[in-house]
Formats: sequence, C-alpha cells, structure tokens
Amino acid sequence: MIPLSVPNLSGNEWKYIKDCLDTNWVSSVGSYVTLFENKVAEFCGVKYAVATSNGTTALHMNLLLSDVRRQDLVIATNITFVAPVNAVKYVGADPLLIDVDDETWQIDLNILEEFLVNETAVESGGCIHKASRRRIAALMPVHVLGNMCDMSRLMELAAEYRLTVVEDSTEALGSYYRNQHAGSFGTLGTMSFNGNKIITTGGGGMILCNDPKLAKKAKHLTTQAKADANEYYHDEVGYNYRLVNILAAMGVAQMEQLPSFLQRKKEIARRYDEFFGNIKKATPQRITDHVQSNHWLYTINVQRQDELRKYLLANKIEVRALWFPMNQLPAFANDLYISHRDVSDNIYHSCLSLPSSTGLTNDEQEKVIICLEKFYSLQSTV
Ligand SMILES: *Cc1c(COP(=O)(O)O)cnc(C)c1O
Repeated sequence: MIPLSVPNLSGNEWKYIKDCLDTNWVSSVGSYVTLFENKVAEFCGVKYAVATSNGTTALHMNLLLSDVRRQDLVIATNITFVAPVNAVKYVGADPLLIDVDDETWQIDLNILEEFLVNETAVESGGCIHKASRRRIAALMPVHVLGNMCDMSRLMELAAEYRLTVVEDSTEALGSYYRNQHAGSFGTLGTMSFNGNKIITTGGGGMILCNDPKLAKKAKHLTTQAKADANEYYHDEVGYNYRLVNILAAMGVAQMEQLPSFLQRKKEIARRYDEFFGNIKKATPQRITDHVQSNHWLYTINVQRQDELRKYLLANKIEVRALWFPMNQLPAFANDLYISHRDVSDNIYHSCLSLPSSTGLTNDEQEKVIICLEKFYSLQSTV
C-alpha cells in the first residue's frame, strides 16, 4: 500500500531520544523541551512558543488565554478537522460556523464580512451577535491543508469588529502569507505534531505568541498552575498539558529536517500539478494569492469521487476524503452555520487527498499517476 501521509524519521530521532534515556531526563522537564520551543518559535517568526501534549490541548489553552467565556460565541470554519470546534465547547462557548470558499477551501471572507456587517454590533462589551445578544469573543481561522485565506483582509475584519484571532495553524507549519509565517498573525497560533502532520513527535502541540505575559500564563496553566517552586501551591485551576522531554527530543530532530521535508512536499505537489493541468474532471485546491503553502496533503476536487477512491484503494493507493462538515456532526448540529450554498457539503462529497508523505519516492508517485491516468481514460471511453 502506498500510504497517504506517514512519519519520516530519518534524522537524529534515535540519537536524541537515547540521550533522554541515558541521562534519565524523560519526563516533562528537560532541555529538549526548551530547545524544541525555541526552534519552532524561531522558524515561525514569533517570540514565544510553549509546548503542549497535543494540538487540541494547545487550542483549548489558546481559547482560555483569549478570555473566551461561557456563553460566548467563537467564529470557526465549517470545513476542518474537529479539534478547534471541540475546543470551543470545552470552554463553554459555542461555535459560529462559516462556510468555506469553493476553490481555496478556507473560511469564506465574503460571507464572514456580510455576517459581521449585518448581524453584529460593536458595543462597549465587544462584538455582539444582535439576534442572540451573545458576545462574539474570537475568530479562529483554520489554515486548511496548509493553505491560508487572505490574511490581510481577515486581520482587518478582526480589528474592526474587536475579535481576538486564534489561528489553528496546525496544518500549516512551513506556510506563509506575504512571507509571514502561519500562526504569527493572530494573538495566538497553534501547532500540532500528530503522526500525520508535516513533522511529528508521535503526539504533541505548541502555542505560539508574541506577548510575554500570555506565554508565561500558557506555561503556568499547562503545568497545573503551580505557583511555587517548592510547595504544592496552585493559584488557579490548572491543566497537565505538558509535552515530555522524550517527545520534544524527537521534535528537535524533526525540526532539523523540516526544510528538506518542505522541499520534498513542493516537488510532490509540482508533479501532481503537472498531471492535473491536463485533467478537466479534477481540480486541485487553489492556493490563495500571496500564499506559499507547505502542500501538507495534496487534495483534488473530483467528479465521481467515490468511484475514484475505490479504484485507487483497490490498486493499493491510500487516499482519503476530507472531514465531515462540522454543521453535519451531532455535537454542532444546533449551532449557527452561515452559508449561501453549502460549499462545505460539496467539498465533503467531492474532495480526495492523495499520497503526500515526504518519504514518497518518485516511482511511487508515478504509480499513483499511472493509476489516475487509467481511471480517467476508462471514464472517457465509457
Ligand atoms: C491535527 C489538527 C489539530 C490538532 O490535532 P492533535 O491530534 O490534537 O495534535 C487541530 N486542528 C486541525 C485542523 C488539525 O488538522
């Protein structure tokens, strides 16, 4: 089977993990945690990074740090992996789901702006949703598949409507908008190092920010809010959301390879682009103007998605559809969903991600392309 996206562990992973075991620094304190945080912060062009147990806990933290409270609303994207929308519920708020653009699959800024103009009012307490009188506390764009929306416009809207921007940049390590790294636009950014992400620690996450007070608070809250070095004195409700040194060691080794991973992702995307340039029945995700994508998962919008999926799977090529739209999941079915023609539903029914591992060989990619070619030539004769 040619896998969709698997870890690439060809660097110093063993060496650094062995170092942790040899020195007994295996747990949540250790030099690799700080080293990993510094490397990610530097790469992303932010002042601070705080490692967490995974991307979902980083998102939960980021909403707490943004002072999102019970009964607030948080604007989120309807096409996303479920984690950011779950995190909104963890803090007792509800998501306000916005449909996505049909070509870039990012939050549709026209719909967002129209909604903000017509349905909200900026008052002394912040941005208020007029119909429910609830506060809209934050705006959480998800950089779906490593692409981004027009971030200049999003940041302008957020400033005008006094919304704190929390970026779910977990899929966008190595992506830039106008040469600025994903996760560095908002008050807070988020990284994930889950097994299928561009770099992995098995499981892990990170909070990104430029504000020293927020960074300090993030460290504090993720370490049980322990306020005294010697005594077990905790000054508020805290969380055990830390990343352990062993996993951070793996992260350091992965960061060393990130530039070569990004280069490989670009080559893979270029080869697929070349092929799909001649196929009318399939359209790759359009990368937004001024965005340099990390090409995390190469994904196409196709007619007869289900047939193509079965055909490729039968030929031992792993492919996957995108996520169920959030408004169609039971947990969020009663939340607001703002859309004109439910692009999300179409995307769910017609998109397919293709093998994109950094370890994918040229031969393997050609096998995928030959298979795609066969599928389309069979179709045109039918
Ligand atoms: C991977 C991912 C996360 C975080 O996932 P974890 O498995 O908790 O690290 C969050 N949001 C999106 C959009 C993701 O793709």
